[in-house]
Amino acid sequence: MAKQNKPNYWWSLFSMKCPRCRRGPMYTNNNPWLLKKTFKMPDKCPECGQPYELEVGFWYGTAYVSYAVTVAFCVATFVAWWVLIGMSTTDNRFFWWMGINGVLLVLLQPWFMRLSRVIYLYFFVKYDENYKVTKVKTFDYNTEDFYKKEEPQK
Ligand SMILES: [Zn+2]
Repeated sequence: MAKQNKPNYWWSLFSMKCPRCRRGPMYTNNNPWLLKKTFKMPDKCPECGQPYELEVGFWYGTAYVSYAVTVAFCVATFVAWWVLIGMSTTDNRFFWWMGINGVLLVLLQPWFMRLSRVIYLYFFVKYDENYKVTKVKTFDYNTEDFYKKEEPQK
């Protein structure tokens, strides 16, 4: 089969594409700030059929990712502020950073929550260049064994 170009990892991650084929979108609507649709995802990738919610309650684990993303963001804005504007104990530049950082966190929250799910799924599902012929990644190991017995050779 013709070898396709492998889409870039970071590009796929930040554009919120399916981790398996890096082509299908993970969210139904592109705009995370339409809050009713923030978490609207197809059940599976429209391109390769990869299910997104690998097991019931799968997305609970994203809380840790979301926490890490938030901390990383605060560190990044803190460093940027320090370099560009500076910090001092004799004025309130530090409090300006806290305020602006806080507002940004709230504004970016829907995007962060989406990104956390994407990062989380990227931990478990790897890119598969033969996604058109291979089977999707799943946690249902019994089912996988079952299929192996049902269709042993090909
Ligand atoms: Zn896919």
